[in-house]
Amino acid sequence: MKKKLILITGGAGFIGSHLSSFLIKKGYFVICMDNLITGSKNNIKHLLKHKNFRFVKHDVSKYINIKGKIDYVLHFASPASPVDYLKYPIKTLKVGSLGTHNALGVAKRKSAKFLLASTSEVYGDPLVNPQSEKYWGNVNPIGVRGCYDESKRFAEAITMAYHRTHKINTKIVRIFNTYGERMRKEDGRAIPNFINQVLENKPITVYGSGTQTRSFCYIRDMINGIYKLMSSDLNQPVNIGNQNETSILKLANIIIKLTESKSKIVYKPLPIDDPKVRKPDIRLAKSRLKWRPKVSLKQGLVETIEYFKKL
Ligand code: NAD
Ligand code: UDP
Repeated sequence: MKKKLILITGGAGFIGSHLSSFLIKKGYFVICMDNLITGSKNNIKHLLKHKNFRFVKHDVSKYINIKGKIDYVLHFASPASPVDYLKYPIKTLKVGSLGTHNALGVAKRKSAKFLLASTSEVYGDPLVNPQSEKYWGNVNPIGVRGCYDESKRFAEAITMAYHRTHKINTKIVRIFNTYGERMRKEDGRAIPNFINQVLENKPITVYGSGTQTRSFCYIRDMINGIYKLMSSDLNQPVNIGNQNETSILKLANIIIKLTESKSKIVYKPLPIDDPKVRKPDIRLAKSRLKWRPKVSLKQGLVETIEYFKKL
């Protein structure tokens, strides 16, 4: 059988690089396309010399020119940390809109399957908890987070339109907060911030009162879920995430305990439109993909702490 060719946009980022490694191990040929705006060649340095891996530096908001066959397009390019998308609001809107259009164009031209990395942010500051795929969300389109939320909502809309109009076999994964090795130290998201603050004996910065909740999924579980969705016949959006909902203050205390740190907690202003709760309803993934997360928050944090210690 001929090797399957996969194009991963954003393949040099945190999730994209793990997905690249995973798919190469499964026997695929991976073309990783990334402009390195928030990713790094360091994330893929173990793959650069692999015979089934090719890196192409390109901004996917501009026309994507790929010669030859492609079997699957995985569209992961986009700043993902609130700190990053607040710094690059227009580039974030462009990669979610123009970038998704270009990536879908490749899938159409090559008769390839397509998977969009969407996000729990499509639910905004949700008025129901947990969030099922049926919930339409509560997003402030003109708020500061709107650049990310609306770009992903547009990306989902154009993906469904290509599916319905051009009959492309598309998938949409709604990724809930994911963490693990290869997140940047200065990424700005809660877990890398807290771990690096305790490792440097600095105060832990909890935004607001810390009562807001998130449900953190370890990267290994996320990659397994994405792979199961890729291989499925589902075309509707699917939540992938961990259901263990934790307040941010509790998360800070767990990290203090695991590292036996003496760091104190300092409270900083809550960012505008910061969602108050977030927890995935994963019944669809459980029943249709036979997927469920297996790594506990403690186990995942221990592995992530070890990673940052070695950096
Ligand atoms: P990341 O910032 O580590 O990776 C994103 C990658 O996309 C980077 O390598 C970046 O350089 C690249 N990129 C951005 N714009 C690009 C462009 N115009 N052209 C080419 N490459 C571009 O973030 P991540 O956490 O790995 O997120 C990956 C994807 O998963 C994103 O689409 C994000 O929205 C989605 N997601 C992630 C999470 C999470 O918790 N990590 C949650 C929800 C959704
Ligand atoms: N957060 C925090 N301190 C930090 C970084 C983040 O209290 O140093 C909070 C943030 O306000 C949010 C939660 O942690 O309520 C998760 O933030 P993150 O940036 O990880 O992801 P989000 O879910 O907001 O996209």
